[in-house]
Amino acid sequence: MERNTMIVAVDGYSSTGKSTLARDIARHYAIKYIDSGAMYRAVTLFALRRKLYDPVRDQLNEERLREALEQIDIDFLVDPQNHQQYVLLDGENVEQEIRQMEVSQSVSMISRYGFIRRKLVDKQRAFARRDSLVMDGRDIGTVVFPGADVKIFMTASAEIRTRRRYDELLGKGYHVSLEEVRRNVEERDHVDETREESPLRKAGDAIVIDNSHLTRHQQLQKAVQIIEEKTGKTTG
Ligand code: C5P
Repeated sequence: MERNTMIVAVDGYSSTGKSTLARDIARHYAIKYIDSGAMYRAVTLFALRRKLYDPVRDQLNEERLREALEQIDIDFLVDPQNHQQYVLLDGENVEQEIRQMEVSQSVSMISRYGFIRRKLVDKQRAFARRDSLVMDGRDIGTVVFPGADVKIFMTASAEIRTRRRYDELLGKGYHVSLEEVRRNVEERDHVDETREESPLRKAGDAIVIDNSHLTRHQQLQKAVQIIEEKTGKTTG
């Protein structure tokens, strides 16, 4: 079926600045932005709060989480003033909590489960039913929207990614060590790349942006150039 909306998929490793780029693209083209990682984080928070996941033993109560997933509502709230996005779990703003280390340390384990992925992928596809959008994640160009108009795959050196994430967490007032952040970034990438269900992979037709040495403005310029080449869309 022909559609006249545009879908931009931004995938890549942890802390490569996917969400910053995706947000900048959304602002540039005045389209919707969906942070798919926030959805996996919200499910992880839910499982931790309800004690359905034991991070020490890596044990999940699959049956109860499967039931709960039928009921829980995950949505986004956008502040029209500053375009800031907040994830809502059953109507509660959990944006702060889902960024905590406790959630970061369990989210990749939770994201391995096929029944959770299928549920969230359905929701992610529903966001694109009417509107153009840019979505960032790990499997957007490969699984969620294999027919996306534009696919970007972000990468950067592990050193730079660790430093960025560390600075970001520090800036938000979280107390973490550089070593802890490095371990988390490396572990998440490893689990994401090696899981059976929808592993992190570059789609064959994705264009790589290595932003190790790019400014925020330069990476947006590159993305806009890619989008224009792929779609002919020039309006911002
Ligand atoms: O994007 P972010 O780093 O917040 O994602 C957190 C985690 O959620 C990832 O490390 C990955 O395990 C999972 N994720 C996923 N598929 C996506 C988005 C995120 O498995 N599309």
